[in-house]
Amino acid sequence: MSTQSEAVLALFEETGAYLRGHFRLTSGLHSPEYLQCAKVLQYPGYAQQIGFDLAEALRRQGLAEAVNLVVSPAMGGLIIGHEVARALGVRFQFTERDAAGRMALRRGFVVEPGERAIIIEDVVTTGGSTREVRELLESQGVVVLSAGSIIDRSSGTADVGVPRTALATLNVVTYPPDDCPLCAQGIPVVKPGSRAVPVQP
Ligand code: ZN
Repeated sequence: MSTQSEAVLALFEETGAYLRGHFRLTSGLHSPEYLQCAKVLQYPGYAQQIGFDLAEALRRQGLAEAVNLVVSPAMGGLIIGHEVARALGVRFQFTERDAAGRMALRRGFVVEPGERAIIIEDVVTTGGSTREVRELLESQGVVVLSAGSIIDRSSGTADVGVPRTALATLNVVTYPPDDCPLCAQGIPVVKPGSRAVPVQP
């Protein structure tokens, strides 16, 4: 694991953002660990530092050349996307789902054909949100250069259709609900982000 990766994960540990227990992930799979980025990013100084490091990682890999826009899917990408845009000195927009559930630019945000954008998320698991944002931007003529996240929970396998980087790449242990050793031990499963109230598996 790289020094940068260790430094980021140390911040997660320090702020209580690296949770251990029994979690039901958005995918429906169960896991003994969960990274709650919002707990790190609640500290603006840490958010700024992580945003700067992610912007530098993109620059070093040649993935931020002549970029003039950062776009993130709300909610997870809001804070880190804003900080990466600050570090790159470009503007920041975010996408939300419309009434039909499709990713959309709202709030009067306008993009011009030929603009060069980077998509930033807090955590990439399957890359689905980043892919949706990329398709939306490309449909409006924006050139999507690359994508970045604080954490890559896919062991590097998520394909978003453009080059991608992350500050820390993890191989998170997951179990199908019907073959979960934590369930077998009778440990209540919780959905991260909600209060620690047991939910049905
Ligand atoms: Zn379980």
